[in-house]
This record gives sequence, C-alpha cells and structure tokens, in this order.
Amino acid sequence: MQNKGDSTTARTSLELLYNISRELTSALDLATVLERVITLSMHNVGAVNGSIIVLDTSGVPIDGIICVGSKIITNAAAQLAETLPDGLAGWVIRNRKGTVVSNTGKDRRWLQRPDDDNQHSGAKSAVCVPLIIHLQLVGVMTLVHPSPDFFSPAHLDLIQAIADQAGIAVQNARLYEETHRRARIMTALAESASEITSTLDPNEVLQRILSQISEALQVEIVALALIDPQHETLSYVASSSGVKEDHIDRSLKLGEGFAGSVAEAGRGEIIEDTSTDNRFVLEFEQNIDKNIRAIVCAPLISQNKVIGILEAFNPIAGKFDPDALEVLTGIGSLAGTAINHARLYEQVQSAQKRYLELFQDSIDPIFITDLDSIILEANHQAVTFTGYHKDTLLNRPVSQLLASPENEPMIDYRSIPTGEIVSYESELLTQQGEKTPVLVFIRSLAMEGEVNFQWLIRDISERKEYDKLREDLISMIYHDLRSPLSNIVSSLDVFNTMLPQDGDPAFRSLLNIALRSTERIQRLTNSLLDMSRLETGQPIVNLLSTSPMHLAIEAVEAVSPVADTKNQMIQLKIPAEMPVVLIDADMIRRVIINLLENAVKYSPPNGEIILGAALEDNYAQVWVQDSGPGIKEIDQEHIFDKFTRLNPQDSQKGFGLGLAYCRLAIEGHGGKIWVESELGKGSRFCFTLPLVEKD
Ligand code: ADP
Repeated sequence: MQNKGDSTTARTSLELLYNISRELTSALDLATVLERVITLSMHNVGAVNGSIIVLDTSGVPIDGIICVGSKIITNAAAQLAETLPDGLAGWVIRNRKGTVVSNTGKDRRWLQRPDDDNQHSGAKSAVCVPLIIHLQLVGVMTLVHPSPDFFSPAHLDLIQAIADQAGIAVQNARLYEETHRRARIMTALAESASEITSTLDPNEVLQRILSQISEALQVEIVALALIDPQHETLSYVASSSGVKEDHIDRSLKLGEGFAGSVAEAGRGEIIEDTSTDNRFVLEFEQNIDKNIRAIVCAPLISQNKVIGILEAFNPIAGKFDPDALEVLTGIGSLAGTAINHARLYEQVQSAQKRYLELFQDSIDPIFITDLDSIILEANHQAVTFTGYHKDTLLNRPVSQLLASPENEPMIDYRSIPTGEIVSYESELLTQQGEKTPVLVFIRSLAMEGEVNFQWLIRDISERKEYDKLREDLISMIYHDLRSPLSNIVSSLDVFNTMLPQDGDPAFRSLLNIALRSTERIQRLTNSLLDMSRLETGQPIVNLLSTSPMHLAIEAVEAVSPVADTKNQMIQLKIPAEMPVVLIDADMIRRVIINLLENAVKYSPPNGEIILGAALEDNYAQVWVQDSGPGIKEIDQEHIFDKFTRLNPQDSQKGFGLGLAYCRLAIEGHGGKIWVESELGKGSRFCFTLPLVEKD
C-alpha cells in the first residue's frame, strides 16, 4: 500500500506532467517548443545546463538548443552533433533508453570537454533521455547538474515522462513546420505558374520566368539557357540585367561547367560558396559584371525531357533559403512546359498564318462549307469571282452558286473520305447573273473536331472556248475540206484513167504530182480528225484483219517518189509468214507513212532506210530504221508529245504533230511505240500491234 508521502509526490508529478503537456502543445513553432521543453525540464529537476538535439528520420541532427544558465542558444544542431557518435547522447540513441551519469568525470560515456576539468566547473552529474514517439526516435535531451550524484532514478523517470510529452510536441512542431514549408513552396509555385502560363508569347514567357525566379528566390541575377538537341549545346537565351551584352551568344557543351553538368544530369544543385567549389568554372557566370558568390541551378523539364536550365545568382539575404533548390526545381518543371506550349502555339500560329495566306492568295476561288454546304469562309478570289460581298456569301448554301452537273444529281459530297478529292464540271452563277463554266474540286477536311468541306473552283471558260474552237475546226475540216478534197482526188483519178498510155509524159508527171499532193493533204486532214477523236477518248471502230506486208507496200509506194529524189533506198524486211493484224488499216498506213517520211526527211541523200516487221509473242512489231543524225536519249520520250520539234530552226518543215499522231493511233490500238537511237547512228522507230487471237 502506498503511503501518504508517495501519493502526494505522485500527484505533484502528474500535475507537473499535465501542466508541461498543456504548455508544450500550445506552441507549434519548433524553436519555441524546444525552448519550453528545455527550460521546463531544467526547472523541474533543478538542472543548470541542458540541451536537446532534434533528429530527422535517418538520424541526422536537424535542429538543436543549448541552455547554459539563463543563456539560450538556438539552431545549435551543428554544435551538438559532436556528442552524437561517441558522447552520452550517442549512447542513448544507440540504446534507445534514458540513463543517469552520476559523475561525469568517471563515466566514459561523457565526452570530456575543456570546462570539465577540475580547474573549471569540474565533475558534474547528468541525465540523458531519448525523445521517442511511435517507436521513432525524434531527439535526445541532456540535463546537467554542477555536482556529482545529483540525479536519482526518480529524476530519470520524471525527465523521461517529460521527454515523452516533448517528443509529441517536437514531432508536431516539425510536421507543422514541414507543412508550412510545403505550403510556402506550393504558394510560390502556384503564383509563378499562374503568372508564367498566362501568356503564350515565347519572349514574354521567358521574361516572366525570370521575374518569377527573382521574386521567389530574392536573388540579384537570373538566367535561362536552352538546349540545342542537334548540337548538344546549352545556349543562354534570356537573363536579367547585370550581364554583359555579348553573353547571349555563349553556349556550353552539355556537361561543361556547372550549368552544363546540371543540364546533363537533369538534377538541380546549389553552390553555396563559389570560392570553394571547383564546379564554378569558365562559363556564362564569368560574363556577369557582378562577383558571383552563390549559384542555384535547376533543369527546365518538359515532357520528362531536359530542355534547358534555370540559374539564380547571389541571394540578396547573403545565403540561399533552404527551399531555394526545391522552389527553382518546381519552377523549372512548370516553366519547361510553359516554354514548350508557347513554342507549339507559335508553330501552330505560323502554320495557321501560312494556311490563311495560301487560302487567301490562291488564284482559284475557294469556299469552306459545313456538312450542310453552308459557306463558312470564302477567300479573296471567291469574292472577286462571284461578285458578291463577302458577308452575302457567308451563311448561304454553296449549291445556290453552283449548278449541278448536267443530267446528274447534286454530287454526294458528304460521302467523300477525308483526304480524297472529288471533282465535277459545273457552272458558277455570279452576282451579275452570268454563268461561268467551272471545274469544282471538293475535299473533306477535319477542322477543330468537325467535318468541313473545301470547294476549290477552277474557271474553265478558256478551255471550254478551246474545245468549242476545236469542234468548229474539226467540223470545218470535215465539211469544208474533206469533201472537196475527195472530189479533187476522184476527179484526178478519173483523169488518170482517161489519159492514154502513150500520152504526153509531162502531162502524166504533172498529174501524178497533183495526185500525190492531194493524197498527202487527205492523209493530213484524216490524221487531224483522228487525233481529235482519239484525244477525246473515242474508240477505234473500223477494225479489219489486215496483212502487214500489204500495208507496208502501200506505205513505201506513198513515200518512194520523195525518197527517189534523194536517191534513198527503202528496203522491206517483212517475213512472208507474218500473220494478219486487226486494225484500222488507213490509220496504221498513215502511221507507217509518217515514220517513213521522217526517215526520208532526216536521212542523207543515198541513205538507207529499212521498213521491217517481226513476230513478238502476241504482237507484231514494225520498225523503220533510218540513217539520219540520231536522237539524244533525253529527247527520245518527249518527241512523241504534240508540237515537239527538236530543232525548230532547221530547214526541215513540220509542226511536231506527226509522231504525236503515231502514238495516239498505236496506243488506241492497244500497242506501244518508241524510238531506239544513238547520236550519229541513225534511229529506229518501233511499234507493236496486237495480233488477232486464234480461236
Ligand atoms: P514534224 O512534223 O515536225 O517532223 P514529228 O512529230 O514527226 O514532227 O517529229 C518531231 C520531231 O522529232 C522532229 O521535229 C524531229 O526533230 C524529231 N524526229 C522525228 N523523226 C526523226 C528521225 N527519224 N530522225 C531524227 N529526228 C527525228
């Protein structure tokens, strides 16, 4: 059973603990809590000196307080750290339990200091307890009394009880401080974020980043450098004042200097004192007018990639705030994203500007419509071409301006797949009521999540006029030239038969000249008509089984008179067993005559010309070999184009239509035509014709 004295002591102790706990929990700032714990503890056991070391979760001292008599020293973590590994505090931490040192002079756990010898204060007694909360050690408290054997086990219990309360208070204060610190950082970052991201102008973004860093870190100078990924260099692109003019051109290799190494590692760092840190070497910092004392540098990050660095120099307060690196790293992350967004925005803007310029400056009228063909946008040319004011064009259906293709329903433009173009001929109704023939190209576009359509209008009135002209010309040739010509030919034929065999040779010769010339004109007009039909895609209908040999003889006959005048020999090399071909004989005869005429034209007098044929798989191949100047390889393909004449100034007359006709006629028959030639070695014009398939 407890005696009265014991229960009074117990009650006093409880009251004391209650008061201590109330005192401690009423403060939240760590420095105040530590001061209260040490003074209350010293006061209650009558100690004269005392200290508390606060430890982080890994056991590193982060704060401390020393009390010597009435003198208080705060922020004493560094001074107290030496008692940790070897001293009494170290022993308590290792054993996680409190202890009493009755005589500091005799206990080896006590780290002897100069003032411990007998000349000074001499041997003392001490009590040391751990501050533990939820099994976690948060600190150690040591109390000292000037005389040995002062502390009893009861003192140890009381101090441990106070320490248990104090542990909670210290932990709370630490958490509070950490929360406070986080809140400060978050507020600084949130303010910076809203300031930096509220613009999309790339230069403005850089300036805002710099001013936010200056403000958040309170430094003299700030700078920003970006990485050029192609050259793997880091170039300074913006900085606050205090920097020499030419610094902007400075660039570092990744890994070079302090900034270069931060950019390479992608992790921020601080140089607290440039005079003792050898990472501070030649680089941008040397271009600064001011003497650089301290630097904090953090990477600029965008999409998990380092795109540059931020640097802040010389804190105004003399030393960097402990959060400086964390704040700069935070700004680095959001600034990197802001820079990237600004760059992307600029790219989108310039792409949009380019597109708009292309759209507005197009020589063709263009409309952009929605799914219901309502005009959303019209370019300058559309306004000029239609004669309507732009406001009148907008919001009206494009179908009001474009007539449907003749006898065809309005084109089903909605089913055009994205990226494909559909075109049709139509007429555009202008404001003046005129109808202009146009070719319409419709394309579907995905714009801002919606399907729109681009209607590009091409004025084809000129082409239509040419078509008309051509039709007129063809009908002119047909009606006004062809029938009189055939009348002349048949009349000359009649003359020819009427002329007696022994008649005047001069007269016969003249008649022959007239006959040949008219036949030539006839061939020409027929070829012109054929070209025009073939070009408009009309099929060849007069197909008859024809013997190539037969055709060849007729063609040679037609050109022989001219060849004879140049004393040229036309040799026939056609195998007798050559099968028949299914062709429009008149057309192909004119092809061979054309090739032979060219061969005669370009071969020298006495030159040799061969007209040959051979069987090739399912084709009959025909060729005309001459002894002319030959044709350069580069010209060999396009001499078959209309109006191509290789030497227009040479003495040989022509329009460059002969070979164009040959190609149209041969391809119209399902064959091919080409030339094999070498300069100085003559030319061989070849073509193929499909053979009649045997049943
Ligand atoms: P043209 O009526 O002007 O002769 P062609 O279409 O028959 O037109 O020929 C086109 C051009 O090809 C000629 O102007 C000429 O330069 C070249 N050419 C055609 N045949 C020969 C050939 N056998 N040898 C050399 N050049 C030729």
